[in-house]
Amino acid sequence: MKILVLGSGAREHAIILSLVGEDVTHDIVAAPGNAGIAGTVPTVELDPNDPTAVTNYAIAEAVELVVIGPEAPLVAGVADELREQGIPVFGPGKAAAQLEGSKTFAKRIMNVANVPTGRASRAATLAEAEAALDAFGAPYVVKADGLAAGKGVLVTTDRDAALDHARTYLEQGSVLVEEFLDGQEVSLFFVSDGHTVVPLSPAQDFKRLSDGDEGPNTGGMGAYSPLPWLDEAFGSEEAFVSEVLETIAQPVVKQLAEEQTPFIGLLYAGLILTSKRDSDTDRGIRVIEFNARFGDPETQVVLPRLESPLSDLLYAAATGTLSTLDRPTFAVASAVTVVLASENYPAAPVTGLPISGLSQADAIAGVHIAHAATAKRGDELVSTGGRVLSVVALGDGFAEARARAYEALGHVSLEGAQYRTDIAARVAD
Ligand code: AMP
Repeated sequence: MKILVLGSGAREHAIILSLVGEDVTHDIVAAPGNAGIAGTVPTVELDPNDPTAVTNYAIAEAVELVVIGPEAPLVAGVADELREQGIPVFGPGKAAAQLEGSKTFAKRIMNVANVPTGRASRAATLAEAEAALDAFGAPYVVKADGLAAGKGVLVTTDRDAALDHARTYLEQGSVLVEEFLDGQEVSLFFVSDGHTVVPLSPAQDFKRLSDGDEGPNTGGMGAYSPLPWLDEAFGSEEAFVSEVLETIAQPVVKQLAEEQTPFIGLLYAGLILTSKRDSDTDRGIRVIEFNARFGDPETQVVLPRLESPLSDLLYAAATGTLSTLDRPTFAVASAVTVVLASENYPAAPVTGLPISGLSQADAIAGVHIAHAATAKRGDELVSTGGRVLSVVALGDGFAEARARAYEALGHVSLEGAQYRTDIAARVAD
């Protein structure tokens, strides 16, 4: 199959590595990619956010499947234009992508579909924000309504900081003030063809910059999968996944289909498992956000565990035939990823610095590198952004996977780089 993957992050590198690892050989190109992706498949200079440029390329090159990695092309309507031309595309249209792009839209869909989520209040003025903060009380949760690259959310006990955050994002539109939800976070991916919904395996990501969940929120500093503690809390991973499928993913996809905005692509449910139970059937699972694409860095730990071919899943979703596929299966192996970020990320990352040691890191058993913000400068590999790469390690248990990931990181040099040392530590005993 001729597959075009749009994007340039570690998520897209993970998707491509998974496609390349299948038994069947595909003809894969990436646009625009990064230095690591370019080492795996050919890349093309194409603006992934330009619907016409992408569609013209797909027609000219007889692309059979377009996989959209990041949110920006979705919001720009790239999937819509491809679909109009009859090209199978994995990624929702502009309207359904609002599930991620607009927190207000997501809340409305959840309310109509009776999906459990935190109570929230939309504020268009500072006075409204202040009233909502006082109504919910501390800790305060303030969210930018639009896309903010994972940085629009502030959780704080400091009322002044909450108000400052609201002030910043009110300049760009409205904000959402939400009740604080206390509990473990879980990311669960679903593949949807607009009607049929298929779950993948759960992961946990680490949003805060520093060890012990300190520091600012980031795009994500690490992740692990599966989540062994779900067995204790829900009996089994399967029981948990079924519950989220039935009470969250299917109702949302059904609602979007009824509104004539079918969700075709990856539905990412960001969940908090609270101890709150409003009824006998309520086990305290609450949605904190939806994304309309694969999550980064969770993709880096979920896809290496996928045993069935990824291309089958993505193509079936794009062509409305998911109900004909068997459920995907996952290896029991433990997967850990640790993100290496530039100095001063997320505030103002220092970029353009040389990176070395990747071949030594990659040579460790069970380890591979998913590139994000990397480029070639002559023969040299250099950093080009905040989150530079993800070290991914598989192991027989989390102690082994973690040991491998951190041994690999010990080989990687990037001046001023930062990474967390506690990824998956709690499950590694
Ligand atoms: P989001 O971008 O909505 O996923 O939010 C980023 C992070 O903020 C989440 O991963 C949580 O750690 C935290 N967060 C978001 N909403 C809430 C909430 N209602 N209660 C507690 N923490 C939250």
